[in-house]
Amino acid sequence: MRLLLVEDDAMIGEAIRAGLRRDGFTVDWVHEGQTAEQVLKTDTFDLLLLDLGLPGKAGLAVLSDLRSRGDTVPVIILTARDAVSDRVQGLDAGADDYLVKPFDLNELAARIRALLRRKSGQPTPAMEHLGVVLNPAAHTVARDGQDIPLSPKEFALLQLLMERPGTIHSRARIEQRLYGWGEEVESNAVEVHVHGLRRKLGTDFILTVRGVGYRVRPS
Ligand code: CA
Repeated sequence: MRLLLVEDDAMIGEAIRAGLRRDGFTVDWVHEGQTAEQVLKTDTFDLLLLDLGLPGKAGLAVLSDLRSRGDTVPVIILTARDAVSDRVQGLDAGADDYLVKPFDLNELAARIRALLRRKSGQPTPAMEHLGVVLNPAAHTVARDGQDIPLSPKEFALLQLLMERPGTIHSRARIEQRLYGWGEEVESNAVEVHVHGLRRKLGTDFILTVRGVGYRVRPS
């Protein structure tokens, strides 16, 4: 899952990015509001982590403009402003959640998972499809009760495909969701990860839709 972090404090930003990467998220980071706005118009993210006090353009203005453009990306506000009125204002401007600094990174990761679950209409913490169970919090995958160790990218790819079984994902879209800026992407990276998943999960779970992309086998 790919997140955009908007945070002007270098130390806080570094800590959040490092912690979330350890949790398996792809995290891109910008330091000011205007850059965030440009990036949000051209790139695709699963979720936005937004500081309010930002140079250039304030977080609330970024958020309001994002929603007026019709962008429904889930947003968590991360800020030191802890007054009730600030929280109400942030949520009413279109944020989905609000976390006051300093916060625990485990709580942030859990709130991100909760929002992503809600966005994909997932009722339970673990995803289950045709005997394959993927647990985003525990980072585990099992097929027919058997644990299957996956690389971080294999895990991210499987999670993306299982989020909406039946939906076909193009290679370009998968690449965009799996890799952040500055990460080197081999031209056949997606094929390599699909191959890895088929080797571990069996060849019948992920289907190739010729000329279009990949999807999991519909039930
Ligand atoms: Ca700030």
